[in-house]
Amino acid sequence: MIRRLMVLAIALVACATEQKKPDTAEQKKTALTDDKQESPLLAPWHGPWNGVPPFGKFKVAEIKTAMEKGMAQNLAEIDQIATSPEPPSFENTIAAMERAGQPLSRASAVYGVYTSTMNDDEMQKIQSDISPKLAAFNDKIVQNAKLFARIAAVYEKRQGLNLTQEQQRLLWLDYSGFVRNGANLDDAAKKKLSDLNQELAALSTRFSQNLLAEEGTEMILLESEADLAGLSPSLREQAAAAAASHGKPGKWAIVNTRSSTDPFLTFSTRRDLREKVWRMFVMRGDNGDAHDNNSTIAQMLKLRAQKAKLLGYPSYAHWKLEDQMAKTPERTVALMEAVWKPAVGRVREEVADMQAIADKEKARMKIAPWDYRFYAEKVRKAKYDLDENDVKPYLQLEKLREGMFWVAGQLFGFKFVPVTDGSVPVYQPDVRVWEVQDQAGKHVGLWYFDPYARQGKNSGAWMNEYRPQSRLLGEPVIVSNNANFVRGKPAEPILISWDDATTLFHEFGHALHGLNSKVTYPQLAGTSVPRDYVEFPSQLLEHWLSTRQVLDQFALHFQTGQPVPAELVKKIERTQTFNQGFITVEYLSSALVDMKLHLAPAPTNDPRQFEKDTLAAVGMPGEIVMRHRTAQFHHIFADGYEAGYYSYLWSDTLSADAWEAFQEAGGAYDKAVVKRLHDDVFSVGNTVDPADGYRAFRGRDPGIGALMRKRGFASPTATMQKAAR
Ligand SMILES: [Zn+2]
Repeated sequence: MIRRLMVLAIALVACATEQKKPDTAEQKKTALTDDKQESPLLAPWHGPWNGVPPFGKFKVAEIKTAMEKGMAQNLAEIDQIATSPEPPSFENTIAAMERAGQPLSRASAVYGVYTSTMNDDEMQKIQSDISPKLAAFNDKIVQNAKLFARIAAVYEKRQGLNLTQEQQRLLWLDYSGFVRNGANLDDAAKKKLSDLNQELAALSTRFSQNLLAEEGTEMILLESEADLAGLSPSLREQAAAAAASHGKPGKWAIVNTRSSTDPFLTFSTRRDLREKVWRMFVMRGDNGDAHDNNSTIAQMLKLRAQKAKLLGYPSYAHWKLEDQMAKTPERTVALMEAVWKPAVGRVREEVADMQAIADKEKARMKIAPWDYRFYAEKVRKAKYDLDENDVKPYLQLEKLREGMFWVAGQLFGFKFVPVTDGSVPVYQPDVRVWEVQDQAGKHVGLWYFDPYARQGKNSGAWMNEYRPQSRLLGEPVIVSNNANFVRGKPAEPILISWDDATTLFHEFGHALHGLNSKVTYPQLAGTSVPRDYVEFPSQLLEHWLSTRQVLDQFALHFQTGQPVPAELVKKIERTQTFNQGFITVEYLSSALVDMKLHLAPAPTNDPRQFEKDTLAAVGMPGEIVMRHRTAQFHHIFADGYEAGYYSYLWSDTLSADAWEAFQEAGGAYDKAVVKRLHDDVFSVGNTVDPADGYRAFRGRDPGIGALMRKRGFASPTATMQKAAR
């Protein structure tokens, strides 16, 4: 995952991505003379390598004032550009916008770190206060008519300007981004759009708060030993702690979150309780009570449709998809439908396998949604003979980190040197920093690593960029990887699961995408690519974990030092396609409903019924429920993934296809394919259309054959063709 902070208007309208723009020497002076008592959050960064974030040198309360002041300064700079007496040129308009807003970029970098990893009560209040202000700030820039007139003037004379390919793309992204967001509308329509945006922001907050309330208060209480049947000691401990923290000491609680309900549904032998827990979880936001989200959703869909109409698009999905790699909703639906049928076919097989086990146990029942995880686990053990506990001793967090560094060296010539002299401050003592150098020992950037779970830190794992690479501003890139590993005892290695190891490599893929960037303009740097393309480099990098070279050198038993046996690796590899019917259908049903909700020209005012009808029409298997039902679909009502949940599948189509390019050549470390990967994917950021970049790498457009093979959905003929190759 990649966390994108919706901060700077220019970046936001162009490609909905986070941008942090560093400083130039000249503007450093101006900024300093503007205000002698400037906050360290806005001031140019001090320290080695053109400065590093000023962690430890400010109070949290200053983040709010710095953000407000940074926005005001940025608006003043934008006004200067808009009212320049010079005739509009690429340099004094488009490039000038790239140089503007650096104090805000610096403050935003810290704001992003604190809202995602240090989000205590004080920070949450600041966030509630700042986010609507950021929305208004964005609108002010997009709706600045003088600014847009200059952008449009440059755009109209673009043919005669002798622009580089990158400049042409930046100009097009700026121009089309402004148009897409209403810069061409008349004043009345602009006002209406701005009102819609603010109303949508408020509804989105209400949606989140409703969901938070249901996830935070509802639980299933387990009263006695009999209710705990099947649960491991660690799961019992977690449930006891959850009950105690909800004022029920001495009992056990399954709270209403995925991390609490999933293990219960997987391991509890109490079918009646599994059903109760399942019902609680899938009904979040849909209970017809004070926190029911259906009317909020209906209102949001209505306003989104109005917004699309105001901007001249047939549907909200058409508006949203235009600047993505997919470009049209129809192409995403075609992909989803192509995968849907074989995935449902696989579900039928999975259910048959599970039913066979249930029948053998004389369970006298038919597999229901609350049985899927439980019986899938039994099938996994019976069919693949793989116990996760056999693998873990070989997966030491720090050894795998060394393995990632080794891969970065093999693929991109990078060397990681730990920074231990205290010259780079961190926001939390657990955070460590490495300097990244190229083959010649030249400085490339910095990599921050924040591996452990703690209060106030978002769950999951992600990459964050503190400062993008750009030749224009001449300052090196700074990125971070963040995770939620549970810290062990000092001096004991932290052992992680195969899934977690895969995630580690995934996030490192995002970091390498940022570190390899070689572009001129910061808005186009590294990971600032469309949402349906950004997961491609990171999903691809996951594959290097299972290469023999990495496993032999870095997957070492924490006691014996022996590498993981080939036999065990084979077992892991065989389970890669296990349960893919369930995983794909659970995900894809959500992605399909998302797209259809936003494709409807007259949006539904009954989201619950719409969901039911849509699933019936596609033939949803009765044994599975959507991964995110509409009433609880945070991605699409509060996270910017609306008409965009398909992105994961789209990116996976590319990464599966790209991995086969290595297989067809000399393997994972094939020099020629690696070079193309660097030149056409990892280094170009958003300077080329992603479809063109991919074609340059692969020599053709991606097909879905590789994705089908990866998930084990290949038709017999496709498999035979592959084998014959
Ligand atoms: Zn990712």
